Amino acid sequence: IGAKQVEVSPKLKQFLQGVKKLYINGEWVESASGKTFETVNPATGEKLADVAEANAEDIDRAVLAAREAFDKGPWTKMSAAERSRLIYKLADLMEEHKLELAQLETLDNGKPIRETSNADIPLAIEHFRYYAGWTTKIVGQTIPVQGAYFNYTRHEPLGVVGQIIPWNFPLLMAAWKLGAALASGCTIVLKPAEQTPLSALYLAGLAEEAGFPKGVLNVVPGFGKTAGEPLVNHLLVDKIAFTGSTAVGKSIMKQASETLKKVTLELGGKSPNIILPDADLSKAVPGALAGVMFNQGQVCCAGSRLYVQKKLYDNVIADLVAQSKVIKQGNGLIEDTTMGPLVSAQQQKRVKSYIDKGVEEGAEILTGGSLPFEKGYFVEPTIFADVDHSMTIAREEIFGPVVAAMPFDDLDDLIAKANDTTYGLAAGVWTQDLKKAHYVAHGIKAGTIWVNCYNVFDAASPFGGYKQSGIGREMGSYALDNYTEVKSVWVNM
Ligand code: NAD
Repeated sequence: IGAKQVEVSPKLKQFLQGVKKLYINGEWVESASGKTFETVNPATGEKLADVAEANAEDIDRAVLAAREAFDKGPWTKMSAAERSRLIYKLADLMEEHKLELAQLETLDNGKPIRETSNADIPLAIEHFRYYAGWTTKIVGQTIPVQGAYFNYTRHEPLGVVGQIIPWNFPLLMAAWKLGAALASGCTIVLKPAEQTPLSALYLAGLAEEAGFPKGVLNVVPGFGKTAGEPLVNHLLVDKIAFTGSTAVGKSIMKQASETLKKVTLELGGKSPNIILPDADLSKAVPGALAGVMFNQGQVCCAGSRLYVQKKLYDNVIADLVAQSKVIKQGNGLIEDTTMGPLVSAQQQKRVKSYIDKGVEEGAEILTGGSLPFEKGYFVEPTIFADVDHSMTIAREEIFGPVVAAMPFDDLDDLIAKANDTTYGLAAGVWTQDLKKAHYVAHGIKAGTIWVNCYNVFDAASPFGGYKQSGIGREMGSYALDNYTEVKSVWVNM
């Protein structure tokens, strides 16, 4: 019996007709060029909507609006408690619209409705609630200085922030960026990814309904070169917060140096997931599989290098292959789909070329490797064995449902191998030996380590990269540092 495909809500159908405008200064406005671009449903390859395309002139308008909102208020003059109430209101409205948001995210990104309903949307809502609670708790210090002076610090909002986000978790990434920035009292120009602009526009509508003052949040969909770059180069932007590829992160940092903007970067990864000989395999194998296949493998911290202790290797790999066959690929709107398409034809092509490269370099495909359907941008869950550490598929971020499995013998050699990468975003270790768990956790140079779990997140816990995986931390109290300046006040009275 085929599972049901969810009915797209009438409210959402109406929304999709009206996304031909940008949200600037509290108003829905035409783009300066009058141009629109198509966003596509990756499960079918069909057009979903025409979206207004921001250019440099639109970015300028949005930045000026954010600047004025920051410099003149009322946002920056209202109490922290009032700011908090607005952020809570936004979260409540998201909750009211969670069905539309989940469907919209599935339509625009392709990810399964069971994930958007149970992960993306609730996590985004909780994220706003977490930071709504922080507004009233951002405090400075009084410092016992020399002499008869009274010295204290203030943590002031940084100013106008340009936020550039990717397509893999469109709404959740918007929440990760916006939560701390709004709690800190900044004003924002948000540029969603061109592949998935819709949920950010929907969110802008909810922010308007919540009553945020005009100019506090501006949403300007567009492309990297024509909208992202002007935002990075704009003289009146104080800071850029970016999530996306390491290559673009580097170019943003270079450009931001021209105006000495502050930057935080959340970039790519090639995360090791390690199964030690004493692991509970009933948890480790499905955990390792989900660790790389979740979100079609389009996760910056995907556990895409799987290291298995030699003794267990053959068994683990056999189980992994068997369990991967249970993954149900299909249109994300079908209720029992567990893996959707990749986000675009371009990503599908890119991932397929990595798979071909793996074969060319001598790795063995145990399962997957093909494009299963004619329609949509699907790639089969793919498991490579006999991978050598030097192969491209073991070194570069693939951003697709592809795992490179490798056996290991000695723990210290393994840690050295796990660290032999330019990245350092995350790692996983599966063991029942607490001492070894800590040993590996401390030995690996990465911003997040999961022990006997993977891809677990909470708004309260920091996330970010070592090495070329990024600069700065999102989430928790740490993210507030990204959006505040510290002022030291000396008083001699
Ligand atoms: P990307 O880095 O090009 O795009 C991310 C965001 O940056 C988008 O909003 C895009 O419009 C914007 N952007 C692109 N060029 C820009 C520029 N010069 N200046 C300012 N903004 C710019 O990512 P992509 O091309 O969509 O994906 C390519 C690869 O990046 C993926 O295959 C994956 O490896 C990686 N990626 C990583 C993450 C992550 O979360 N770490 C997210 C998305 C993609």
